[in-house]
This record gives sequence, structure tokens and C-alpha cells, in this order.
Amino acid sequence: MTADIEIAQEPRVVTEIPGPRSRELHARRRAVVPPGVHSVLPVYIERAHGSIVVDVDGNHIVDVCGGIGVTTIGHTDDAVVAAATAQLQKVTHTLFTMTPYEPYVRVAEYLAQHVPGSTAAAPYKTLLMNSGAEAVENGVKIARKHTGRPGIAVLEHAYHGRTLLTSSMNHKAAPYALGYGPRAGDIYKAPNSYPLRDGLSGPEAAARTIAHLEKFAGAEDLACLVVEPIQGEGGFIVPADGYLPALAEWCRANGIVFIADEVQSGMARTGTVFAIEQFGVEPDIVLSAKGIAGGLPLAGITGRSEIMDASQPGGLGGTFGGNPVSCAAAVAVFEQIESEGLLAEAKRIEEVFGGGLRELAERHPAIAEVRGRGAMLAIELVKPGTLERDPELVNRVIAEAARRGVLLLSAGIHGEAIRFLPSLQFTDELAALVVRVLDETLTAAGA
Ligand SMILES: *Cc1c(COP(=O)(O)O)cnc(C)c1O
Repeated sequence: MTADIEIAQEPRVVTEIPGPRSRELHARRRAVVPPGVHSVLPVYIERAHGSIVVDVDGNHIVDVCGGIGVTTIGHTDDAVVAAATAQLQKVTHTLFTMTPYEPYVRVAEYLAQHVPGSTAAAPYKTLLMNSGAEAVENGVKIARKHTGRPGIAVLEHAYHGRTLLTSSMNHKAAPYALGYGPRAGDIYKAPNSYPLRDGLSGPEAAARTIAHLEKFAGAEDLACLVVEPIQGEGGFIVPADGYLPALAEWCRANGIVFIADEVQSGMARTGTVFAIEQFGVEPDIVLSAKGIAGGLPLAGITGRSEIMDASQPGGLGGTFGGNPVSCAAAVAVFEQIESEGLLAEAKRIEEVFGGGLRELAERHPAIAEVRGRGAMLAIELVKPGTLERDPELVNRVIAEAARRGVLLLSAGIHGEAIRFLPSLQFTDELAALVVRVLDETLTAAGA
């Protein structure tokens, strides 16, 4: 993982950001790519390694987003590149539902060994697809088949994707669902746990969620409750202690499939393979994608065998689902989670980077909260002395950081948070640098 790093792990800004070549490319792109496909920072990347992306103008930018939590293992990780290259030369596609191959099975075996609740005697089973949204779609399908019920419960501040079903499950109508209706039906949105803003204990917040769902959906009509253990797009909201176990218990008592959407929080990101482990919950189904294959597209739906087995042969799958190259890359990611001690690295990042952020919060009253787990951290910005969200300040900080060669990303329903998704090999030096940039930009903004 740390082998020949030809790209120095530090920022180097040599032009304006975006530079002239990026601006040229952006003009070309605007002619042929629709604006609905939006780029947060129109800086065109030529190559990347570890925590650094290099743009077409030669700027070296510190990547604290990792393509939204995808390059958890770092960009162009040597072992992942080697495994994917070797697989490319063997076989790139057969269609697993035509003639299968081993890497798919190895991915399923790894997931069965690491989902809380799965045991050697009764291992969870896995279907592989291509994207997070497809994982959610299939999780819902499987839960409906198993329960024979239609209803889908989701939480406020949730994000589940941009397909027709998943865009209907998101908290934000704009930009994800607006104008693309009719939206999918039988979706029930309930209040979440948001300790900074609701002041509720976990059990209190769970009681509120459950009461809402019983009233507006009816437990016996619900196939599943889809929950992000730490909400991603919603602003890295960590629920209060006891919230998730209470929801899981209610699901079990009512025959509702508890689906943990770990598309963003999974794959060692938070210091455990799955974040749900830290909340003491055994999910019925867990969804993986983003970080699972080191940047290649792959998604997993992993669940209790009696739930997964409910679907008839041919009911699940898709042409590219579980592509062999993606699977080989995922196996390399799994091996490195072990061999490089990446779970401990996530905890190191929480301590060092999170510690730096907490220290900042003491000096900058605009930081209402530092939250998250492992290498999934966020700060929520407010008008000092209040809980009034300050998305403008978020945007100013992100823009100034970009000018200094640090790539940051907002989060939160109102864009009130800055989320940090560094790779697990993000060095303490880079963490200190990002904290310094935040400190200076917040000071310059008088916040
Ligand atoms: C990103 C994300 C998705 C959607 O994944 P895609 O691969 O973009 O379809 C679903 N759920 C969560 C929690 C996500 O963060």
C-alpha cells in the first residue's frame, strides 16, 4: 500500500483552481454532457495516488473526499491495481448468471465472515450488483419477496441513490426526485435521531420514529426499514446511543426486515468493517458499495439466508453485477484491511484528525459539532452562539480550501456540514494540514 509513491503526498498548487486546461476541458464538456450531471469542482483529474489527485494543469490536490468514500484504501492502491490487472488478463466478463467464477464467491465469503449476525453455521448470503442504488433496490426487492409486504420505511435526512425507487426514498426532493415523478409509492419517511438538534436520547428518538411509522405506515404493511447507521449525505449524523438497537428490536418483533445501508459507512471506513457493529445491531440485510473495490464499481446485498433464499432463480442479478475485475479488486481490498491493519488506521484518523477538529471547535464558535467515527468525520457550521445553520460559510470554506489545494465536500440537508472521507492511509501530516487550512479559512471569515 505504501510502495513506490511517485506522487508526493502533499499539495502543490501551480495555477489558479481550476487551471486553464481544466477550463478548456470544461468548455468542451459543457457542449456534450448535460448540466444534470454536475461536478462540484470542475478540476479535471489526470492521475492520482494515495491521498493526492493530480489535475491536468499539474496541481496536486489533497483529496479528503475520496470520490465520496470510494477510495477508502487510497487512489491507485498498488495491490488493488495488481489484482485488477491480473484479472483483466484472465477474464473480464462471462455474466455470473450464465457461467460463474471464483472471485464473486470469495467476495460473498468475506462479507459472510464480517457482517454482525452471520455465523459459520448460518452464514449470510450475498448478491453482487454495480452501484449503491442497485444495492438498495435489490435489498428492498428481497425484503418484499420475503415478507410479502409492500411498505418501505426510511428516515429523515436519508440518502439512498438516484434511481427511480431510491430517489423517492431520499429526504431531499431537490435535486434528486424533483420533476422525475411519479415517484415510487409505499415509502414512509419517519423522524431520525439527530442528537445536536433534537435533544432526544436514543430510546426517546426511537419511540418517536416507531410511533410515526405505526401511525402512517402500519407495522404489518412494512417489508423493511432502511437505515444508514451513520447518515452520509444527511451530514454524518451519528444517532444517539440505543436508537438503532431499539429500531432493530421493533423490526424483529414485527417481522420487518432491518436493512443497514452501509454504502458509505461500510468497508472499514469507521474503524470496523461495518459501522453497524459499533451500535450493537445485527442487521437482517447489509448493503455495501462505494469503498468495497478500491474505486471499481461493485455493490453487495448481504443478508440472512432465509431472507435471501426467498427469491426464485433468475429473480436477482444483472449483466454486469459482480464483474470479475471488480471482485478481484475487492478481494485485494479485503486482504489489505487485514494485512495493513486498516481498521486501526481508521481509529488513528479519528483520534488525530478528529482530535484536531475538536480543538478547532474550541476556538471557532461557528463549529457547532464535530461528529462521526473513524475516517468518516464532519463538522456542522452555524451562526456563532445559535444553532442556525450556515451553508454559506460551508461554501466559503470549501472554496478557499480548493484554492489552497484541499478538496472538501459539503453534506447535510441544508449543506450545513463539511464531511471528511480521507483514505485510511491519510497521514497525520495531511490531517494537520487540513486542520490548519480550516483554521485559517474560518479565521479569515471571522468565524
Ligand atoms: C452513495 C450512496 C448510495 C448510492 O450509491 P450509488 O453507487 O451512487 O448508486 C446509497 N446509499 C448511501 C448511504 C450512499 O452514501
